[in-house]
Amino acid sequence: MSIKHVIAATKNAGKIREFKQILGEDAQVVTMTEAGFTDEIDETGTTFEENALIKARAVYEAMKGRRPFDLVISDDSGLEIDYFDKKPGIYSSRWLGEDTPYDVKNQIVLDRLAGVPEEKRTARYVCSIACVLANGEELVVTRTAEGRIAFAPSGEGGFGYDPIFEFPGLGTFADLTPEQKNSVSHRGKALAALEELLKERGML
Ligand code: IMP
Repeated sequence: MSIKHVIAATKNAGKIREFKQILGEDAQVVTMTEAGFTDEIDETGTTFEENALIKARAVYEAMKGRRPFDLVISDDSGLEIDYFDKKPGIYSSRWLGEDTPYDVKNQIVLDRLAGVPEEKRTARYVCSIACVLANGEELVVTRTAEGRIAFAPSGEGGFGYDPIFEFPGLGTFADLTPEQKNSVSHRGKALAALEELLKERGML
């Protein structure tokens, strides 16, 4: 069996592009909005895994019987800064204001970490990807990218906190090409793990 129809429980174009890359040429990936799902989903979970599942389940329940699909896929991700007791974590997009530009947010993080030595600046990106298959079976994988908060922003690539997230030996995530970032990132690794699970089920 191959995957032909996928509904992505996200509106984020970057995430959809990455989903398409692993699901292959034959898979037609539509966003939940394109599939006719316009409700707001309350991310009431306390972990990335729970929130990824909440989003995938909500879209699955709404679409089941209304439209043919092989799977619904969603992802939830964020940055944990150890010095801030793992904040912002699941609140990463809303932290310091949903509409605050990231160059401002990143400078606030650097200011709050002023004088904090390298060994205490540890941080990680976390990504959970959840799938609900047509038969209702649920798959969820979580992967991390371990690094630390830089002393100054660097790089033009990536998005969000990437200019201040330093990956050991490579520079910040914003210094990397998309391919380099995908090969070590939380999302790249979670997608690779999901690919394995789908292969084990003969779906890829
Ligand atoms: P989500 O779309 O609700 O999963 O929120 C993810 C948030 O976590 C983003 O808005 C960013 O703030 C942060 N984030 C997650 N992954 C990355 C990444 O790869 N680079 C930069 N920021 C990220």
